[in-house]
Amino acid sequence: TIYFIDGQFTEKDGVKISIDDRGYYFGDGVYEVIKVYNGELYTAEEHMTRLFQSASKIKLAIPHTERQLIEIAEELVKKNEIDTGHVYMQVTRGATQRLHHFPETNVSPVVTAYAILNPRPLTNLKDGVATKTVDDIRWLRCDIKSLNLLGNVMAKQEAHEAECAEAIFVRDGIVMEGSSSNMFGVKGGVVYTHPATNLILNGITRRVVMQLCADLGIQVEEKEFTTEEAFEMDEFIMTSTTAEVTPVISIDGKQIGSGAPGPITMKLQEAFAKQLPLAVIG
Ligand code: PLP
Repeated sequence: TIYFIDGQFTEKDGVKISIDDRGYYFGDGVYEVIKVYNGELYTAEEHMTRLFQSASKIKLAIPHTERQLIEIAEELVKKNEIDTGHVYMQVTRGATQRLHHFPETNVSPVVTAYAILNPRPLTNLKDGVATKTVDDIRWLRCDIKSLNLLGNVMAKQEAHEAECAEAIFVRDGIVMEGSSSNMFGVKGGVVYTHPATNLILNGITRRVVMQLCADLGIQVEEKEFTTEEAFEMDEFIMTSTTAEVTPVISIDGKQIGSGAPGPITMKLQEAFAKQLPLAVIG
């Protein structure tokens, strides 16, 4: 695999990261995951815009333009001959002596990235997945796609131990989002999802799905709903760059709707697949 680090493309063995990198010490950085279909980056501009927004929210100045980072991502896709997969890119505040406050001298942010093969989750898309609710113990800036993912890691592990594909964060009884996805409920033909506040990450896939709802004439509302209301939904969906439009067929062992992917979920899956770059199979 060819990696990108500090302005250079190199084999993994050639990657040198300082032990003093603030990403390593503090999780002081931001990242993006961009899907690749048929060798083409999908919604790359949206991801790069969000990367710069996340960086700006933590007062990190990325020493590149959005276009330059997209070109690096494209180069990685080419060099690694990625057909279906994703690009991971992160920017940390750089390497200095371990002090919590920002470095005062000219320390450069460190950009690292790679491209990797990753097939579409066809089995999950077809059969749906089980999920588990967990307490949302994260901080109050979940809108930032930060490298600090301990809350998300703990939640995903709890779901994993319960043989569930995803954890659903619940804060004060309200369904927020997944540990690495956004959540949608469908009731009486209306699609509901948590508003894009500081308490969730406004997913790029979430935005695509909301646009697809609008295009298909499906009513979509950014409105809070409780765990109890979630159990009573006709359909439930989780979305992310890698999960796409995945049906959720159970929450905490309780079957949602018929226990199979519902009609609106399948309509959205079909519309989602249709707008992917070129003809994606499956
Ligand atoms: N919410 C969280 C906490 C995430 O980590 C992610 C992505 O991994 C998402 C939502 C979904 O975002 P996107 O659709 O941009 O991948």
